[in-house]
Amino acid sequence: MKTTRRDFVKNIAGTTAAIGVLGITGCETSKKDTKETAPLTPKQPEGPAKEKYDVIVVGAGLSGLQAAILLEEAGLNVLVLEGRKRLGGRVYTLENVSGKPEAAGEWIGGNYARMISMVNKLGLEMFTPEMNNDNRPWMYNIKGEFITAKDWSSHPLNPQTGEFRDLLPSRYLRTISNHDNPLKDQPLDAWLKPEFQKYDIPHDQYLRSQGVNEETIRLMNVTIHSGGMHRTSALNELRRYHVMDFNSKLKFPDGTGWKMIKGGNSLLPKAMAESLNNDVLLNKTVVAFREKNSVTEISCADGTAYKADHVICSIPISVLKNVTFEPLIKGITADAIDHVGYGLSIQVHFQVMEPYWEKDGLAPNMWTDGELERIAVRTKRNKIDPDALVVFINGPESLKFRLMTDQEVFTYCQIKLAQLRPSMKGTLKPILIQSCERDIHGAGDWVYWQPGQVTKFGNHMRRRHGNIHFCGEHTAIMERGMEGAFESGERAALEIILES
Ligand SMILES: Cc1cc2nc3c(=O)[nH]c(=O)nc-3n(C[C@H](O)[C@H](O)[C@H](O)COP(=O)(O)OP(=O)(O)OC[C@H]3O[C@@H](n4cnc5c(N)ncnc54)[C@H](O)[C@@H]3O)c2cc1C
Repeated sequence: MKTTRRDFVKNIAGTTAAIGVLGITGCETSKKDTKETAPLTPKQPEGPAKEKYDVIVVGAGLSGLQAAILLEEAGLNVLVLEGRKRLGGRVYTLENVSGKPEAAGEWIGGNYARMISMVNKLGLEMFTPEMNNDNRPWMYNIKGEFITAKDWSSHPLNPQTGEFRDLLPSRYLRTISNHDNPLKDQPLDAWLKPEFQKYDIPHDQYLRSQGVNEETIRLMNVTIHSGGMHRTSALNELRRYHVMDFNSKLKFPDGTGWKMIKGGNSLLPKAMAESLNNDVLLNKTVVAFREKNSVTEISCADGTAYKADHVICSIPISVLKNVTFEPLIKGITADAIDHVGYGLSIQVHFQVMEPYWEKDGLAPNMWTDGELERIAVRTKRNKIDPDALVVFINGPESLKFRLMTDQEVFTYCQIKLAQLRPSMKGTLKPILIQSCERDIHGAGDWVYWQPGQVTKFGNHMRRRHGNIHFCGEHTAIMERGMEGAFESGERAALEIILES
């Protein structure tokens, strides 16, 4: 029986929820889970592709869906193939965790013009959560000592002597990196200009040259998403805060700076997919692109194949090394595929069975320079929700979890938390683990540039390969994150529309 587009998208929502209810075995929670192949997609003919599409878009994250919508609006016949069992890529609301936290793309800035326009067009609503990582009341734990935010400015462990003495450690990375930012007042694409290449050096080296001391750099390393301060280009960080400053100038009409989608950000990719003429096909992990006589045949891991005159590929760049291209991709773009990386992070979600903060009188949330980094009780979206807690570890400290199974990660966190704060012993029940880095389709959080990479690859990521056009947040020029994804999808679609 033919599955209609509406039934199909409904099925996706229903099945995702059903899988999630099973708790730790929910989709996208571990390497093991991503190998499961639930047959959610309509059966496709096996063997060589028959129908030829004008454009095939690979990846149903925001960039791929934005490209598909624009191409359809231009009258082209478009098919979207997605490797995962769900839509949205790095937009993923944990619908079955109390409070429905966002496990990936979270904050929508006032400068996210394309994204906001899509949210409005599809009839979704946004809201401003009460708390974010900047205004969350953290209890600090530095070198094993608990310190309240109030006591920090006079505390002997505070490494600042001058104007930043009052600055909380959780804000060091952004505020100190952004101090005297050479990109200030420049256009958003300035980071790609030759005169700024002198900042394409390790971020710790740049900060030392600005007079920042070693202890401050060590504490900044807690917040960094990349492989560490020494493995991140200063230009990566300077660009990041430059874009954030631009956002803070463009507030929403109600005066707030950052929002989320009511009901969860995942509603947006679902609504975008639903607005397309052709069903998005899930569980279609693309393994090869073969171009012959100006037509590309795309092969998937399930043995199916599809043909198109043009392709838009939104696969994260580091995942592309697992995909075959005929003809081969060579030169600088091949080097970029081999070397450009994504931010590392792991989120370990627990249900709080007993409010441990009532036992010891300290604040529930902790920002630490220890192995587990940040421990936050999420803002509830509903009063009857039980408290849920996330241990959020990013950057180099997250690497060791590559060596652990999900169960080992839960146990390790429970033991370390009880050591850090004895009142937490026996109060946490594992829910799930989320990490784009543990996922074959994901590679990591946001793209980040290592020292020298902006100079080497910055202008090569967008180069088409025959009739394959690349998009994805990693190819954005002006914006970053979710808006960068929209920007890149728009650029790739326009490349094809202008040619057709
Ligand atoms: C923890 C975290 C927090 C974040 N917070 C924010 C934030 O607050 N604000 C913000 O703006 N951004 C944030 N981001 C970044 C933002 O989510 C991403 O930049 C954006 O969603 C990327 O969209 P994309 O379309 O470029 O890539 P993706 O969403 O990764 O889309 C690529 C798609 O390709 C699919 N795919 C991969 N390989 C294959 C294959 N071989 N075959 C078929 N399909 C394949 C993937 O499954 C995926 O669906 C965050 C990201 C993370 C992980």
